[in-house]
Amino acid sequence: MFRKLADLFSNFFRSLFGKRDQDVPLPPTPGEPMLEDSQDVATDTIVTIPVVVPDVGPFDDPDKDAAIDGPPPTDDGTAPEPPPTDPVDDGGEPDPGATEPEPPAHTPRFLWCLDNGHGKLQAGKRSPKFELDGEEVQFFEYEFNRDIVKRIMKALDEKGVKYFDVVPDVDEVGSFLKERVERVNNKESDLPKLFVSVHSNAGPAAAGEWVSDSIKGAETWFANGSKKGKKMAEIFQKHIVANTGFVNRGLKSTKQKQLYVLVKTTPPAILTENGFYNNEKEVLELMKDEFRQKIADAHVAAIMEIEENGLG
Ligand SMILES: [Zn+2]
Repeated sequence: MFRKLADLFSNFFRSLFGKRDQDVPLPPTPGEPMLEDSQDVATDTIVTIPVVVPDVGPFDDPDKDAAIDGPPPTDDGTAPEPPPTDPVDDGGEPDPGATEPEPPAHTPRFLWCLDNGHGKLQAGKRSPKFELDGEEVQFFEYEFNRDIVKRIMKALDEKGVKYFDVVPDVDEVGSFLKERVERVNNKESDLPKLFVSVHSNAGPAAAGEWVSDSIKGAETWFANGSKKGKKMAEIFQKHIVANTGFVNRGLKSTKQKQLYVLVKTTPPAILTENGFYNNEKEVLELMKDEFRQKIADAHVAAIMEIEENGLG
């Protein structure tokens, strides 16, 4: 009897708050499906929360293209003169008055557990084949996710922010959900941990087909009921949209079958979905080095905002 009552209470509170922000994992439910990313969530269970971001538009907005690619052409169609730049360092003898650069003054506040969803051995999670610079290529999500995380880690090294590379492995990795989560939960840290899983999205389309062009943009997921997760998601979504020009699809969560890595990890957790790789136009952006850098920079900007202000 007491046990039943206790279960009732615990289920009631879980339904109210979902993932707890303290270091208490939700107990595994036998037979529970392991939803891996947003593609696996039943559309009619998704809760969307809009996020206001400084005025930005989609890729095909000419002004936004200009912001991404450089200044717009002048009226006669020629490229404008580049603005004058500072004198370039000629690599000569160092100025005798110059001092060594200061080490980063930043005091780390969190341990950022950076996860690069999916593995090389995993089926699906790839675009249809397409032509790029005269070659047939394909977008693989595991490769993109790892590349973005690598870029984030490089910037965090420079800024003196602490992180944990959750899945440095590449070759022998499949879906790996449980082990990703165990690595995060077992990681010892004096600093509070936060979890960020980096992904790119795919919309509903037949195998080998592209999704409708209206399906595009970025969204950030959090475990339904996690206040800190929601706050993190807001900050990441804001920076991702502002920095890249992605269509703003807002924050997402679901009350039913939640995403495995968001509910099973003990720290506050988010999952970013950066564009749709089965959108024929968007995948071209996702292949570009400079666009990937913008996505990584946006994650770093969000991390720095949270390093600065905490999560309240
Ligand atoms: Zn994914």
